[in-house]
Amino acid sequence: MYFPSWLSQLYRGLSRPIRRTTQPIWGSLYRSLLQSSQRRIPEFSSFVVRTNTCGELRSSHLGQEVTLCGWIQYRRQNTFLVLRDFDGLVQVIIPQDESAASVKKILCDAPVESVVQVSGTVISRPAGQENPKMPTGEIEIKVKTAELLNACKKLPFEIKDFVKKTEALRLQYRYLDLRSFQMQYNLRLRSQMVMKMREYLCNLHGFVDIETPTLFKRTPGGAKEFLVPSREPGKFYSLPQSPQQFKQLLMVGGLDRYFQVARCYRDEGSRPDRQPEFTQIDIEMSFVDQTGIQSLIEGLLQYSWPNDKDPVVVPFPTMTFAEALATYGTDKPDTRFGMKIIDISDVFRNTEIGFLQDALSKPHGTVKAICIPEGAKYLKRKDIESIRKFAADHFNQCSLLGKLRLECADLLETRGVVLRDPTLFSFLWVVDFPLFLPKEENPRELESAHHPFTAPHPSDIHLLYTEPKKARSQHYDLVLNGNEIGGGSIRIHNAELQRYILATLLKEDVKMLSHLLQALDYGAPPHGGIALGLDRLICLVTGSPSIRDVIAFPKSFRGHDLMSNTPDSVPPEELKPYHIQVSRPTDFKVSAH
Ligand code: ASP
Repeated sequence: MYFPSWLSQLYRGLSRPIRRTTQPIWGSLYRSLLQSSQRRIPEFSSFVVRTNTCGELRSSHLGQEVTLCGWIQYRRQNTFLVLRDFDGLVQVIIPQDESAASVKKILCDAPVESVVQVSGTVISRPAGQENPKMPTGEIEIKVKTAELLNACKKLPFEIKDFVKKTEALRLQYRYLDLRSFQMQYNLRLRSQMVMKMREYLCNLHGFVDIETPTLFKRTPGGAKEFLVPSREPGKFYSLPQSPQQFKQLLMVGGLDRYFQVARCYRDEGSRPDRQPEFTQIDIEMSFVDQTGIQSLIEGLLQYSWPNDKDPVVVPFPTMTFAEALATYGTDKPDTRFGMKIIDISDVFRNTEIGFLQDALSKPHGTVKAICIPEGAKYLKRKDIESIRKFAADHFNQCSLLGKLRLECADLLETRGVVLRDPTLFSFLWVVDFPLFLPKEENPRELESAHHPFTAPHPSDIHLLYTEPKKARSQHYDLVLNGNEIGGGSIRIHNAELQRYILATLLKEDVKMLSHLLQALDYGAPPHGGIALGLDRLICLVTGSPSIRDVIAFPKSFRGHDLMSNTPDSVPPEELKPYHIQVSRPTDFKVSAH
C-alpha cells in the first residue's frame, strides 16, 4: 500500500497549527472550511469539462463514468499515476492492454506536473490495497480515454511541500509555489474568512462595503508613502497608508457603517510581518464608543473563525498601555505565558550593590526582574551568556525587558519547554494609550501615538492645553499572541479641536487637511473605527512563518516582485510626460569627479 511521502509531510504541515488532527487532508479539509461558512457546498464542476474533482471521489461514486482534469502528481512503474487538482488526489490505473496503447502512451510519456484530462470508471481498489490515509483511498479510476492538455517542462523545484526551497526561488516561480498544499490551504482559508467577515458585517450588522481611492494626496505624519507622478509638472499623488480620511468623510456623508477590504501602502522595508502593500479589514461607524467597536470586532472574529480551530472566547481581556509596558515591557504582550516583569526596587533599596544603587538614584530608576521558570534546570551557561549579550546589545532601549522576556522564552523552547502553545489564540485589547509620544527624530516635539484624528480620553481633554504629553487617548489596539493585529480609535469630530491638535500640538500644515477640517464643520457625527491587518491575522491563524505565505503574490524582503522583476526601470522618453529625470547614483559620481 502506498502513501506518498509528500502527502504525509502535508499532513504534518497542516496539523502543525491545528490541535484536532482527525481531519484528513486536502479536499475534505477544504470542504470543511466551506461547510463552516456556507449552508451548502458549492458546485465545483459547473461550466467545465470535468464531471468531478479528483478529491471528491468516494465509494459512493463506484461505477460512475467520470471525467477529471488535473496535474500528474507522480507515476509508478507505468501502471498507475496519481492525479491532483485543488480538491485532492486520486489514483488512476494506466491501461495495459494492447487496444489502449495510445492512452498508455499519453499517460506514461507526459512528464510529472503535466495537465491531463482522463475519462473512465470509478472502481474499488483491490481488497487490501485501500489507503485509509487518503480521502479517495478506497477507489481508483479505470481509464478509457486520456488527453494531454499541456506538458510540463523540467521544473525549477519539485511541487512537494517538504522539498526545501529558498523563499527567493518560491517567489520567482510563485505560480508553481501556489500549487503547494500549504499555499492552497492558506489562500482558501483566507478567502473563507473574508467571506464570513463580509457576511457578518453586511448581512448581520448593516455595514456598507465601499471602495475608496488609492490615488490620493499625502497624509501628514505617519508612515512614508509611495508617490505616483502625475502629468502636471511637479505634482504627485500618494498611495494612501489607509483609507482613514475617506472613511471619516463617509461618516460625515451619513453612510453610518462602512467597511472595506482595503489595500494599503507604506513605503517601509518588508519584515516577516510587514509588506509595502497589505490588506486591512477597514471599519468605521457613527455614534459608537470604544466598547461598541470592541464588541463588534469580538463578534466578527468569533463569526469568521475557522471551525477547525478552537473557538474564539469573548469578551477579550483588556489591559491598559501602562500595565502592558510595566508587566510585559511592550504594548503588544504575548499573554500565552507568564514570566511577567516584576519591580524589585524595594528589595535592593538598602543594599550597597553599586550598579543597582546607581540605577535607583536616577529619576524613575527601578530594578526589575523576570523569573524564568525552571531556568536553572534548562538554561545552560552559553544561554546565560547569550542573554547577557542580548541585554548589552539592547541596552538603553526601554523595550529591553520585553525583548528579553521573549528571548528567554525562545531559549527555553529550544530546550524543549513548551511555553507558547501554537494552537492557542490569546487575544488582548490594549487601551488607554497616550495621545502623543515624543517624536523619534526630535524628542522635544510630539507625534500621534496612533494618528492625528484620534480623540483624547474624555477625562484628559483639559490636559491638551496644559500637559499634552500626559493626555490619554481613545485609541485601542487588538493584540493576538504578541502581535498587533488591529488598531483604531474614536475620532475627533470637532473641527476646532482637530485644528488645535494638528496645528498647535503636532505642528502640521493644516492646509493639507483643509478638506477634512471643513467637513467636520458641516455636522460631522461622532464616530470611530478600527482596521484589522488581514495578512497578519491569517498568518497567525494558519501558523505561517511570514505574511508572505498568506499573500498570493507578495513582495520580497526588499520590496521587490521577484517573478516579474519589479520595480523596473522606465526609458527616459516614457518619463518625459511626467517631467521626471532620473539621476542614478553612478551619474552622481561621474559628475562629482
Ligand atoms: N487607519 C488606522 C490604521 O491604519 C486604523 C484606524 O484608526 O481605524 O492604523
